[in-house]
Amino acid sequence: MKISDILKNNKITVSFEVFPPKAWDKIENTRAVVREMAKAKPSFMSVTYGAAGTGSGFAAEIADEVSKCGITPLSHLTCLTSTKNKVTDVIDTFKSRGIENILALRGDIPEGFVFPDAQHYHYAYELINTIKTRGDFCIGGACYPEVHPESACLVDDIEHLKQKVDCGLDFLTTQMFFDNEVFYRFRENCAIKGINVPIIAGIMPITNASSIVRSIKLSGCRLPKKFKKIVDRFGDNPGAMKQAGIIYATEQIIDLMANGQNHIHIYTMNKPEVAQSIMNGLSEILYE
Ligand code: FAD
Repeated sequence: MKISDILKNNKITVSFEVFPPKAWDKIENTRAVVREMAKAKPSFMSVTYGAAGTGSGFAAEIADEVSKCGITPLSHLTCLTSTKNKVTDVIDTFKSRGIENILALRGDIPEGFVFPDAQHYHYAYELINTIKTRGDFCIGGACYPEVHPESACLVDDIEHLKQKVDCGLDFLTTQMFFDNEVFYRFRENCAIKGINVPIIAGIMPITNASSIVRSIKLSGCRLPKKFKKIVDRFGDNPGAMKQAGIIYATEQIIDLMANGQNHIHIYTMNKPEVAQSIMNGLSEILYE
């Protein structure tokens, strides 16, 4: 099923992200994670794609497992560090395995990376143009409520986002954010710019103190004072921090839904019990 059809009727959707293993001997563990998460009945499940194509074969395997569970998979695909030929091969592999949905991404620039030649892509919009020529895919893209770290300013970032959407994106998924006000301003800016595709809000439940530093470094997003206080108080107590992180994410989602945001994506970090707890906290809301 195409994600665009899942998002069409503007009913509430909650999707999960899963990442494939780095080594083949862990594939069965990740398949088990997928099966466990599928029990919470997400609207779809996205499968990340390693930088430089690492684990790309495993990504297709994991997407197959998502399908076997009766859930629609969304396969991520990055392009920066692969040649155009290699990227085309991956798109064709996705197609032959029945994958209909691709999240088209540029990928992060590795340290010391020399910006590539004509055999490589520079930006996600070029990848979107290629995907369009390879089949009838539903294509999503990434967006950044707190501005992509490489962008000089919001105006430039939104300009580039508009260009990307106009290449034929069906939906956008946001980078994680912890302050809903940031998202509401971003949503308004998109509307002003004429970016009219569905925007899925990406929520990361922070369940341990050590993952905070990593998440903030990767995403460049800010932690609001309210969340900092939670970490200060509970960061040294793993059980309390996990519970507080799940409740914070659940409250964020409820506030988003109360403000008309119907599409939520949970960065589950491959933790089925976290995904399930959030869904439990929304049980009546999801089926209102
Ligand atoms: P782009 O849209 O190409 O934008 C990158 C930068 O270039 C931005 O600053 C943009 O403003 C600028 N830009 C765009 N077009 C132009 C132009 N024409 N001229 C000048 N500047 C331009 N990474 C992974 O490795 N694997 C994953 O599975 C993965 N999944 C992700 C899922 C989501 C929902 C998100 C939000 C991010 C994900 N990432 C993933 C990270 C992503 O690859 C990085 O954030 C990357 O740095 C940017 O990718 P993009 O597709 O947004 O790039």
